[in-house]
Amino acid sequence: MIVLNEHEWAEEMIAARSLGKKPFETLYRIARYYIDNGIPKGHVRKMLDMFLIQCDPTASIPKWTATLDAAMARALKYDAVDIKSIDITQPELDRINALDGKQIKRLAFTLLCLAKYWDNISKSKDHWVNNKDCDIMRMANINTSIKRQSLMYFNLNAAGLIQFSKKVDNTNVRVCFIQDGDPVIHITDFRNLGYQYLKYLGEPYFECCNCGITTKINNSQVGRAGRKQKYCSACAAEIDMQQRVNSVMRLRKKERAISS
Ligand SMILES: [Zn+2]
Repeated sequence: MIVLNEHEWAEEMIAARSLGKKPFETLYRIARYYIDNGIPKGHVRKMLDMFLIQCDPTASIPKWTATLDAAMARALKYDAVDIKSIDITQPELDRINALDGKQIKRLAFTLLCLAKYWDNISKSKDHWVNNKDCDIMRMANINTSIKRQSLMYFNLNAAGLIQFSKKVDNTNVRVCFIQDGDPVIHITDFRNLGYQYLKYLGEPYFECCNCGITTKINNSQVGRAGRKQKYCSACAAEIDMQQRVNSVMRLRKKERAISS
């Protein structure tokens, strides 16, 4: 998962005592966060053990040792990523908008964001994208057959927007339409890049006030509440449950106050 501000992300995970969906990624970001905050390296490794137990008191440290060591090694090797935003320019959008087909536009947009991300964190700045195909499709919000995916790549290549790697054994592509110009879109979140492009086109998508993910506006909810949707469905469910818990707690407190 791509995170533009890894320290901020590490702070959130520490506060939430969560390993997240990808524990290895969480662990190395937290280790790097501790290192950058001046904690001695020997101590950082112990703090990873402590963090793991905080997240999951039943976790077996011996079983996790290899992962924790690898996270530590990764943290020592690479700086934390700290990118304010990935900016997409008007000439770049013009190239994408000229394509024929909704999915292919989302794919081009996603590849552009990824190429700019890699340019930002690597020395070479050669616009290569080497993310896994399935991850690219997920970020682009595209769910289609491998055959159609290949056809889209073929068409992007034919339109001069991407180049393929000469090596047969990999699927890397090089984005060829990075161009200076007025920045129009500022990407700060790499989840749902496809939806962010659709939002730019004026389609019914919005940013969740809680977690920042871009999702489709749920018309049934808008109609019921009569106001703009604020949260994505995951956050809405979480907030709803928290409110229920709070109201039960208030009720119990009241009951206790009356009976005492
Ligand atoms: Zn949310």
